[in-house]
Amino acid sequence: MCLTIPAKVLEVKDDKAVIDQGDTRKTISIKAIPDVKVGDWVLYMSDIAVQKVAKEDAKEILELLKHVIITNPDTLEPRFVEIIRNSKERQLQQEEIEYLLECKEREMQALFSEADMMRRANINDFFCIHGIIEFSNHCVNDCSYCGLRKENTAIKRYRMSIDEIVETVDEAVNGKGYKLIVLQSGDDPYYTKEKLVEMVKKIKEKSKVFIFMSIGQRDYETYKALREAGVNGVLFRFESSNPDLFKKLHKNGKDLNMRFEHLKFMKELKYFIASGSIIGIPGQTTADLAKDVITMRDNKFDMISMGPFVPCANTPFENEKPGEADMNLKMISILRLELKDTKIPVVTSLETLDPVEGRKNAIQAGANSLMFNLTPEKYAEHYEIYKRKEALNTRMWEKYGLYNTDESYKMLEDKLTID
Ligand code: SF4
Repeated sequence: MCLTIPAKVLEVKDDKAVIDQGDTRKTISIKAIPDVKVGDWVLYMSDIAVQKVAKEDAKEILELLKHVIITNPDTLEPRFVEIIRNSKERQLQQEEIEYLLECKEREMQALFSEADMMRRANINDFFCIHGIIEFSNHCVNDCSYCGLRKENTAIKRYRMSIDEIVETVDEAVNGKGYKLIVLQSGDDPYYTKEKLVEMVKKIKEKSKVFIFMSIGQRDYETYKALREAGVNGVLFRFESSNPDLFKKLHKNGKDLNMRFEHLKFMKELKYFIASGSIIGIPGQTTADLAKDVITMRDNKFDMISMGPFVPCANTPFENEKPGEADMNLKMISILRLELKDTKIPVVTSLETLDPVEGRKNAIQAGANSLMFNLTPEKYAEHYEIYKRKEALNTRMWEKYGLYNTDESYKMLEDKLTID
């Protein structure tokens, strides 16, 4: 569930070890891994060593989590410095957010660094790792940007059976140690309320796991029944706070107000809510994005789910320019400054735009969680909202990031409790 920072062991005495934290040293308990020796590398949470980590993997993790040191603040634009100072004292105004979204080079790097410091101050170096299973690519809608739109006859459609879904979750949770799984599909009425409830109950019987649903605009009764069946959260983007842009994405009758009505009843049902916008929609302005930031902040979403627009073949937007990775990073940073300790995952669309550095850059700009795709291989290639390029290795993350313990489940439970 979490990946945390590694450290080298400098001294060992009884069940305690002194570790190297760069400028300082720290004493931690090694009760959980008593065979630790001087020179070993360990992953630790608070004051407890959790597991050993190979030296080369420790270096890779350290590189990934490295804090980017900013240059002398005296060399930064005074207006930039003033806005950053303001962000520590109050919520930012639209015009200030727009200024940050437009900053470049030195100021942009300084913005990332400020957000990284904010993440460290509020949530330390814990990176939650979640899994996503895309169980159906059928959809009754025709969103202009999405390869799953019903008018696209060029893709092969699939549906996973309930037993296949239960088994895939079982393998992820009881085999690999995932604690939170997102079950995602197009808007597919084949999975009726009853079928979805049955799916959730069967999963819960077999696996101790937090379930998030990403199944589109279903009615209140369906979401109510799913909540009662044990679903913890929903992933439901509002996509754009600008009604005209929203209309451009949904020519066939979806309505932005309806989107927010759904978010409202989801909150009333005490779902943990992941929501956000799409960055780089054709025609979107900086002012639109600043409004998206304010919308995410004012709705106090529990998790921010936003990502760049990536054009997909066989859609009305196939020849449009993709969103910019830097703009996505700036959005992450500003939301980290505004929302402090909220979860901000690195999304696949960002990694698709920048498969080499996307994940690392997003983490260093304030993101703090990852979503790995666990859809069985035979289906994954057909789930194309856009043409994906999966980034980097998941080996190191899965090896060290998924603690198969009750403590890690408990930590997540504390974070997902909605008052
Ligand atoms: S974005 Fe979602 S609702 Fe829209 S077409 Fe794609 S899968 Fe369907």
